[in-house]
Amino acid sequence: MKLILLGPPGAGKGTQCKRIIEKYGMEHLSSGDILRAERAEDTELGQKAQSYMDSGQLVPDDIIIGMMIKAMTKSSGGYVLDGFPRTTVQGEELDKALAAEGEKINAIVNLEVDDEVIMPRMTGRRSCPKCGAVYHIENLKPRVEGVCDNGCGELVQRPDDTLEVVSNRLKVYHEQTSAVVGYYKDSGSLIININADQPIEEVTASIFAELDKLNVQVG
Ligand code: ADP
Ligand code: ADP
Repeated sequence: MKLILLGPPGAGKGTQCKRIIEKYGMEHLSSGDILRAERAEDTELGQKAQSYMDSGQLVPDDIIIGMMIKAMTKSSGGYVLDGFPRTTVQGEELDKALAAEGEKINAIVNLEVDDEVIMPRMTGRRSCPKCGAVYHIENLKPRVEGVCDNGCGELVQRPDDTLEVVSNRLKVYHEQTSAVVGYYKDSGSLIININADQPIEEVTASIFAELDKLNVQVG
């Protein structure tokens, strides 16, 4: 099964992806995580992406498309795309690359949440720089405050999770990314809309109920 998880920053894409892959056994391909790994290794791609990410702008399409198609090609089975595509050009290029392999996306899970819910989620997000685990200071606390449950050490606030950068990312979402849902609607894809303004467990249950209805081979 090949899925795309769409939604604004803070909708819960990363959180829900982890649960989806645990249940259905696909791979989690997060463009943000791949970019952060490139930056941590100080690669040329990571250096190119840095200033865009820190200011909340989108990294240029050509960089992202090449990076994600490479990651998808390496993957042997199903996957969930998290954070990609973020522009209609990225969606078109993704579909072309899949069609060339005789493949397609089975469904798009669209996490819907209003802007006012997003800011406290983002400013309260804490992330593990080593394993990528994501917590929240109120909604998803680690066992010991400020420390990753996986034994990696201290949690950090991402530099792009400040009030100013999140405002910019939300603006960018409405200007460039929200149109991706329309792109998939127009192409006749199966879109599963989920109310993401519910507690984490309830969002997960809503997604599982819908995915269980899909008569597609998982993994
Ligand atoms: P995204 O990948 O869409 O940016 P995340 O999954 O990283 O979103 O979630 C953003 C923050 O909000 C995290 O700190 C996470 O713990 C928290 N969060 C995620 N889903 C919910 C929810 N349904 N209710 C409350 N907080 C949530
Ligand atoms: P979140 O889930 O919190 O919105 P991500 O971790 O997905 O954030 O992305 C962090 C940053 O990485 C984005 O603000 C953007 O600069 C860059 N990025 C990630 N995915 C893409 C993409 N598909 N296209 C362009 N830029 C991207």
